[in-house]
Amino acid sequence: MTYVDVVLPLPLPSTYTYTLPPQCDPRNIQPGSRVIVPFGTKKTYTAFVINLHNQTPQGINIKQIIEILDNKPIILPQQTQLWQWLAQYYLCHPGDVYKAAIPAPFKLESESRITWCGGTEPNPALNDNEQKVADRLMQHPYQTIAQLQKTLGKKNITTTIRKLMAKGLAQTTQVTTKAPQPHKEIGIRLTPAHFDLQKLHTTLENLQRAEAQKKLLTTFIHIADIPNHIQNHDTPQQSGITRRELLQQSSCTPTVCAALVTKGILETYPIEHTLTPTQDTQTEPLPQLSPAQQTALNQINDGFKHRPVCLLHGITSSGKTEIYTHLIQQTINNGGQVLYMVPEIALTTQLTTRLSRIFGTQMSVYHSRLTDTQRAKTWLQQLSDKPGKIILGARSALFLPFKNLKLIIIDEEHDPSYKQQEPAPRYNGRDTAIMLANLNKAHTLLGTATPSLESYYNARMGKYTLVNLTERFGHVALPEIQIIDTKELQRKKRMHGPFSPTLIQAMTQALERKEQIILFQNRRGYAPVLVCPNCGWVPRCPRCDVSMTYHRTQNRLTCHYCEHTCPPPTSCPNCGETNIIQRGFGTEKIEDHVQTLFPQAHIARLDLDTTRTRTSYQHILTDFAEGRTDILVGTQMVTKGLDFKRVSLVGILDADAMCTTPDFRSYERAYQLMSQVAGRAGRHQTPGLVVLQTSLTDLPLIDFVVHGDYFALYRDQMKERHTFGFPPYCRIINLYVRHRDNHVADDLADKIADTLRTTFGQNILGPDAPPVAKIRLWHIRKIMIKIQHNQQPTQIRHTLRTTVATLTSTTPYSGAQVYFDVDPA
Ligand code: ADP
Ligand code: ZN
Ligand code: ZN
Repeated sequence: MTYVDVVLPLPLPSTYTYTLPPQCDPRNIQPGSRVIVPFGTKKTYTAFVINLHNQTPQGINIKQIIEILDNKPIILPQQTQLWQWLAQYYLCHPGDVYKAAIPAPFKLESESRITWCGGTEPNPALNDNEQKVADRLMQHPYQTIAQLQKTLGKKNITTTIRKLMAKGLAQTTQVTTKAPQPHKEIGIRLTPAHFDLQKLHTTLENLQRAEAQKKLLTTFIHIADIPNHIQNHDTPQQSGITRRELLQQSSCTPTVCAALVTKGILETYPIEHTLTPTQDTQTEPLPQLSPAQQTALNQINDGFKHRPVCLLHGITSSGKTEIYTHLIQQTINNGGQVLYMVPEIALTTQLTTRLSRIFGTQMSVYHSRLTDTQRAKTWLQQLSDKPGKIILGARSALFLPFKNLKLIIIDEEHDPSYKQQEPAPRYNGRDTAIMLANLNKAHTLLGTATPSLESYYNARMGKYTLVNLTERFGHVALPEIQIIDTKELQRKKRMHGPFSPTLIQAMTQALERKEQIILFQNRRGYAPVLVCPNCGWVPRCPRCDVSMTYHRTQNRLTCHYCEHTCPPPTSCPNCGETNIIQRGFGTEKIEDHVQTLFPQAHIARLDLDTTRTRTSYQHILTDFAEGRTDILVGTQMVTKGLDFKRVSLVGILDADAMCTTPDFRSYERAYQLMSQVAGRAGRHQTPGLVVLQTSLTDLPLIDFVVHGDYFALYRDQMKERHTFGFPPYCRIINLYVRHRDNHVADDLADKIADTLRTTFGQNILGPDAPPVAKIRLWHIRKIMIKIQHNQQPTQIRHTLRTTVATLTSTTPYSGAQVYFDVDPA
């Protein structure tokens, strides 16, 4: 008897064992293949085969696999190894890793939604079962498999659905492993006549009696972000989205959409996936490296002979990207594959353009903002005989199959966005990449102008090769950084809202010279808080322990932790005061102020709120790169490795908030953010100026930033880390306890901490309430575990898991959620 161990996409501590269907030959199934399995009483899932064996499991009722989906594995042995390492190192479940790793189309489960695409004509080729499913789907598209099974009174219709899919008659986010069909998507956009807010308003009113059409149009306006496009003077062509996404989000049928097309409100067009580079032929030669860049490249190559990891510490605009392109070329010339990782999806846009000029179709892009189909296609290509040579992606690209990975480039290695916060696996993309390289015997290049303390420490300790690049390309000078004391100006009442006179003057001059400006404010929304001037009342989220942020475009208060929104109060519920005031500046309000100060200027905003749709960040960045925007206002998104030629001025509006967050990394982060955003100025001929506004002018950190003295920051911070026992002198695992009841959360956290103290003593800190101690009605406690370098990590992880498992198995605590954050960012 053959037994199959599988991993399910569920938070389960271990693998599950199933038997093969009797007619199935065990030779047709291999580790890494997908199978459909029953789980619980009703559900079915797509699971991955980990292992085949013939040891009968003891004392459990073993169920049978329903269907084998792949006769060739779609994950490779190294991937399974990486998954296992991730689950073990980051203290999460194998199913969490699986869910994060696999694109949706590969995960057919009872909750997958199915649509009919076989037309309405009767099809004699269908058998009874297929016809029943077809009839149902024609009337009710986007049903889940579970719903279909229920309404049709059938136990299991996955097989029928798969047959329909194979005939191209039904569709889900699922694709088969057979040759990927060239996927033509249909796009939807407004007709030029309706690309107008006033017009849309009237149209919506006229649709009053066509509920579904109204819903579809409203959804369209929302997800395509039409007001924003109109405000930015985009063309209707720039505002399209896929019909698939629209139908999914609005839960409307294609008929509803067709009705709006007939009425001339919407129009369809074929989508070309511009993100995937298309031309192979028109490639440019590699740039000639400067002598300093050539020396750095030689040192990197030499370093790889001795150590698998190299840290390239090159100041902003020193041409790190050009060095990467040379390394990429070398690697693919030798038949190897390259993974090029960036911390933020927005960065792939610029790099795609830059790199595809050189590498053409040898490069593919992979990240979570691509459509499911695009991601599945890249995955399958990686498994084919002609896998992509270069993958450019964000952290999820780590999960792709690689047959011959030889080089991983981790650009902006210091960036905290490499760490996944929610949900599990809470992994660090940089560290996981080093592990992935290790499993593939590949090299890793970490590149940054502001290394993380950990990486710099590793380099100085000889674990990584350290290569320095200290001049900007073309000998362009680093921008001058001018400190503005906001405390002094405030006292003299000379600040104009968030702007100092110096900054306004510099902006005026830059605009006169037709140069561009970046303004950095690390807060989104309009006003961070509303306050009652009379009693000090502040609106707080009913579900989280934080104040709400005012967003003016929607005229609503929003909680940045749970997305709960409500209208702003007209009067103070505490004392009745009607004149509620706004305090502080978010990016939205800055944008407003700038527009008042410079009515002629074209302004754009880059933050979480303006980049929610798949393509909006691309538009914002392209417009800025091509000079259609003069001023870009944004959160930390604007600090990252973007290369704009005409930016001469950068304004850091408020450095104080960054320097005062209660976290042992706050100075390191503040230094990185400020130096990085400063580095966006004067990258080409235009000399750069940075205006840095702060009330903390005496802080040594500000001095380090002004002088670009990374080493001074390193020394200063390492001393602190040593004194207080923080990384890189130890490792940290945070344990979080969440419970609906505040007291139970307290009790359980105390019990866990007490138990852990018997083993780890002083290395257990807390429990404490974290800065935001309630999120979505869950009360949160945090315990910090410090792991010294002489301790056995495997043993520690075992103790942590068993302690938690034991304590949460008893009654008052069984409703608790306990999870770990390993190496928190
Ligand atoms: P970094 O990544 O270090 O911030 P980039 O690689 O973006 O720097 O380089 C900054 C600018 O200088 C880019 O516009 C790039 O095209 C240009 N540049 C750098 N090195 C070269 C080179 N060897 N030849 C031509 N242009 C270069
Ligand atoms: Zn009040
Ligand atoms: Zn909330």
